[in-house]
Amino acid sequence: MPIGELPERVTVYEVGPRDGLQNQAEVIPTDVKVRFVDALSRARLPYIEVTSFVRPGMIPQLADAEQVAEEIERRPEIAYTALVPNSRGMERASRAHLDGIAVFTAASETFSRHNTNAGIAETIERFRPVVAEAQARGIWTRGYVSTAFGCPYEGDISTEAVVNVSKDLLALGVSQLAISDTIGVATPRQVDKVLDALLEEMPVQQLALHFHDTRGTALANVLAGLQRGITIFDASAGGLGGCPYAPGASGNLATEDLLYMLEGLGIETGVSLSDVVEASRLLASATGRVPSSRYFAAATA
Ligand code: MG
Repeated sequence: MPIGELPERVTVYEVGPRDGLQNQAEVIPTDVKVRFVDALSRARLPYIEVTSFVRPGMIPQLADAEQVAEEIERRPEIAYTALVPNSRGMERASRAHLDGIAVFTAASETFSRHNTNAGIAETIERFRPVVAEAQARGIWTRGYVSTAFGCPYEGDISTEAVVNVSKDLLALGVSQLAISDTIGVATPRQVDKVLDALLEEMPVQQLALHFHDTRGTALANVLAGLQRGITIFDASAGGLGGCPYAPGASGNLATEDLLYMLEGLGIETGVSLSDVVEASRLLASATGRVPSSRYFAAATA
């Protein structure tokens, strides 16, 4: 069966400095983070999630959010975003002049309670003033729907649960949803099924997919998303970030691996693959950690 028609252009949303570094055991020095983000900017990634404005004690890896936002060299054509958990975080993010903010909830009630100490409905209420404030300031917004394809506590997640939380986020006024496979269990037909349900309720342009390669299915899932017309995919340079629910396993889909496949499919991204490799190399030499990206390994062999 032919692959069929795919989008001509895709937007890559880089999550390495936030989602990646947040899940690394060690705390990276601020100046290394700044050089890493600057290297990602040189690669012309159109969206870079640079940090998280959670309470500094909560995630020590990202306690320097203000300094990172202050010291990175911004390019006007790139949107620099950050995760914001509540109104206090929103205040800090707007003082830091971020172009966009992201809020984070889940399709699994149990995961939401473990991760944010609040049920799904409570997180939505918490985001209401955050999104309103962002809109008033002209700041772009995204909502993460984590555990959309499976939960470390509940196991299978119903498609209905994914659709419900997605609709709630859109009703708040969030511009984009990142439908996320937090523990890396999704497989292509499941992706197709979840998208089938979501696309009944919302336009394809508002949907991004966030895959983890924990079990080696991330790129197959991206292809399933492309076949449904999805044009926004999250990735992390070098495959940065472990999986907190599978210690030792890889986490986020690597930006290099995603770009290599998209280039091969003839899909434009505007991103320089070789410059992403340079960004990963820079971070790897500062941390001494070998990136999990397969493309990185092949390109630097
Ligand atoms: Mg992730």
